[in-house]
Amino acid sequence: MPATSKVPGYYLQFASDNTAGACPEALAAFNAANAGFISSYGEDEVTRIVCDRLRQLFATDCDVYFVFNGTAANSLALASLCQSYQGVICAETAHVETDECGAPEFFSNGAKLLLARQQDGKMDAANVEHLITRRRDQHYPRPKVLTLTQATELGTLYSLDEIAVLTAIAKRHGLHTHMDGARFANALAALEVSPADMTWRAGIDVLCFGGTKMGLPLGEAVVFFNRALGEDFSWRCKQAGQLASKMRFLSAPWLAMLDDDTWLKHAGHANRLARRLAERLAALPGLACRPAQANSVFVQLPEPAMARLRQTGWVFHTFIGDMARFMCSWATTEAAVDHLAADIAASL
Ligand SMILES: *Cc1c(COP(=O)(O)O)cnc(C)c1O
Repeated sequence: MPATSKVPGYYLQFASDNTAGACPEALAAFNAANAGFISSYGEDEVTRIVCDRLRQLFATDCDVYFVFNGTAANSLALASLCQSYQGVICAETAHVETDECGAPEFFSNGAKLLLARQQDGKMDAANVEHLITRRRDQHYPRPKVLTLTQATELGTLYSLDEIAVLTAIAKRHGLHTHMDGARFANALAALEVSPADMTWRAGIDVLCFGGTKMGLPLGEAVVFFNRALGEDFSWRCKQAGQLASKMRFLSAPWLAMLDDDTWLKHAGHANRLARRLAERLAALPGLACRPAQANSVFVQLPEPAMARLRQTGWVFHTFIGDMARFMCSWATTEAAVDHLAADIAASL
């Protein structure tokens, strides 16, 4: 950070929601989980209770697994839904395509990602159907999974109807369905719908429920609504080095998040601050913004303006799409957002 900056570095951090630490509730639960000797590898009481709480949350008898990060969650879940000679349809902007170093292909032993056109991060139904039906011969991988990201990598949301339309097409052609929910909490808080309605009732077979970005120290939950598809998942996790022996540290923080809807409170806070920033930027003339529906703001800034902002110490990404991305988290403050908006205005 340059010497001119008078504020601590974390304040200037809008690069990602994972630049924030763990929220106090999750951290307290993490510390509390440290007490005593308890069974390992998920055979403990805390993990059992958390799984039950997640079944309650989703109002269905689903199977739940905890892994260390989102790349593992996505790629192991996808690998369990297809064979090596099959294909996984995703948006061309999907994290599984752009940011997982080929892990979905690796863990599936070669299943091919088939890229769907996207608009603001969302796939369109006609194009997905075209991808499924255009080839039926054995020279091309057979489409077997449709994965969508909610909230999307570009900060937008699929409506429940849009999810249902996509999953209906998938089901009609015998594909399984997966949701990358690294920002599931933000999507749910924004849409104000039930977890069941946004997942299995909308045709989702497997959800990767993001914990890290909503404020856990680490860890994601993989939730199989279609339990038959997750039959061997424990073995797959173990082989991939994703079975925590001190599982209590992965699972216990979830309890604190689920208590009193803490997770939705934090996600709602992040969404509100993104909206606040988007409103400030909308008031500036000539700035193109993407719809800010969850906890990020994408804005087209001139290169010199971005250079000035970075010189002041603001941290943000430009590698997702072509715009500058400012990401809010549970830890982002109103003061930081207002300061950022003022500095963006001054940078132009
Ligand atoms: C952050 C993120 C993930 C998970 O990434 P890891 O760094 O592996 O935890 C997955 N999908 C999306 C859309 C993400 O933003």
